[in-house]
Amino acid sequence: MNYILCSEGFRKFFSAIQVNVSEVTEALILMRDNIPLLLRELPLGKLIVSMDAPASVYEPEGKKGSMEVYCSPEGYEEQHAYRGSFSTGENGTCDVIVYAKKGHSWSQEEEDALSFLAQNIFVFCGRARMVGLMQRANVMDNLTGVYNLNGLMRHGQIMLAKGSLSDYVACYCNIKNFKYVNQNVGSRRGDQILKKYASGIAKWMLQDEFVARLGGDNFFVLIRKERVESFLDFISSFKVRIKFPEQEKEYAILSRVGICELEPGDSVSDALDRVTVAIDVARRYSKQDTVWYCPKMLEDTMREKEVSLMFPKALKEREFVVYYQPKVDLQTNRICGCEALVRWVRNGELVSPMEFIQVLEKEGTICNLDFYVFEQVCLDMRGWIDAGLEPVRVSVNFSKVHLRNSKLAENILSLMEKYKLDSKYIEVELTEMSGFVDYDALTRFINAMRKHGVNTSIDDFGTGYSSLNLLKNLKVDIIKLDKSFLDDIMQSRGEVDEIVIRNIVRMVRELDMDIIAEGVETMEQAEFLRRVQCGMAQGYLYDRPLPREEFERRLVTRAYSV
Ligand code: C2E
Ligand code: CA
Ligand code: CA
Repeated sequence: MNYILCSEGFRKFFSAIQVNVSEVTEALILMRDNIPLLLRELPLGKLIVSMDAPASVYEPEGKKGSMEVYCSPEGYEEQHAYRGSFSTGENGTCDVIVYAKKGHSWSQEEEDALSFLAQNIFVFCGRARMVGLMQRANVMDNLTGVYNLNGLMRHGQIMLAKGSLSDYVACYCNIKNFKYVNQNVGSRRGDQILKKYASGIAKWMLQDEFVARLGGDNFFVLIRKERVESFLDFISSFKVRIKFPEQEKEYAILSRVGICELEPGDSVSDALDRVTVAIDVARRYSKQDTVWYCPKMLEDTMREKEVSLMFPKALKEREFVVYYQPKVDLQTNRICGCEALVRWVRNGELVSPMEFIQVLEKEGTICNLDFYVFEQVCLDMRGWIDAGLEPVRVSVNFSKVHLRNSKLAENILSLMEKYKLDSKYIEVELTEMSGFVDYDALTRFINAMRKHGVNTSIDDFGTGYSSLNLLKNLKVDIIKLDKSFLDDIMQSRGEVDEIVIRNIVRMVRELDMDIIAEGVETMEQAEFLRRVQCGMAQGYLYDRPLPREEFERRLVTRAYSV
């Protein structure tokens, strides 16, 4: 029987340290505070606990350190130490060294008690570590060792409660083209890049700043407001070194960043919503990698979502109608063609294509709408011919998204065949919004149309891809001068501008193409166009886009008085 172990001091000590702590240091401090309970039974000189656990998935940094839990003011016997050495789960070590008080040497009974004490110290430290790891696993990201979404939310709540969130700017950082980085270097090295990216940000941050991985290559960062510019500099020149067996390579990591400033009362979820919208804008529309959130973005996103959601049903229920806007021959003042323009009749109201074309282009569903419009045009045209009304050539807008479809020409021709329409009645207007154009596909399509006698035109000339240089290579039939072009010319009315536009017209004609000016609103503009020998005009001066029945009346009168 070991009387020391049964003593009241020992019992009290062990019950005092039965507290749930989640850090080894906390556990040791707890022991330090209660050591006096042991001193009557054990003449302790000094107690040291040291731990050396290697890095693991759960603890990327490992655990290394030592703490003097007790040191007697009366000194200790350096030669007279009890040593307990234990192995941690991941092959690390935990050592407990207990020196006897000055002038004392351990008896057998004392050594047995020390062995029991050391084992329990090891167990308590291990338990504290385990609790800590479990708590952390819940809030930390396994791969990168920074916080996860759960951790972000908890941290956010604490900061919100403190009222300190409004000192920060929230950033959503996403690695540009990470998919290709992964394909390029393999997913294992891709993971290494993610780790270095996360730890790079974490190292750059001040103690009160914060980074969390949202999943994949997406990170959420809270930075003090005054440091946002330097954060953006830092993140835009981020470099990662990766070791390959043969060499070490450096990668420049580019990021997209959606940012918003936090206002008093904003929560982390508010910030997350906003920076998600901002980064989405950066990803989808912006030429810039950094986009600051503004409230209008949220409205736009909601509206776009609504359009995407309602579109399939609206198309099925034929809520889209085709309007026709006449084109006028500037020499004869007679109708010489028209453009089909779509309208969405939604709950009895006409919705402008400006509200939905872009959204549908982005998601590719514009192709369904364009063919719907084209078929409606074919149907109307067949109706006019059957009723003995001589049609004019109708131009139909086809988004450049169609160029991805190698059967585009075939599909257009087969609809014309279905309604038995002569190719002279149809013109394909290639509209452009922005970004990349596949010129090979464009050339192939234009040539296929030309082969079958269908005219093609380039819309909005003077903006986007429609540069003069391109015209040499693209054998289109008609150039549509963009309205903005005309507006600029009319505003300055300079002679130089007149020379410029006169030369564009001449060049287009020399290249054996026709030219039409759109958005003609005034007599003055029409006069100007006539002077520079532009062939055709389209605009409110003559007619707005008209519903079919009204347009049919124009097919009868044909002449304009302006
Ligand atoms: P766009 O092809 O450049 O069509 C001309 C736009 O200018 C039309 O707007 C027309 O109503 C407007 N416009 C015509 N004359 C004047 C004028 O004198 N002054 C002013 N201020 N505007 C004039 P809308 O109908 O709102 O169409 C906007 C755009 O939507 C079109 O621009 C076209 O890019 C697109 N769009 C319309 N229908 C379709 C379609 O069926 N398919 C595709 N892909 N795009 C379409
Ligand atoms: Ca057009
Ligand atoms: Ca246009």
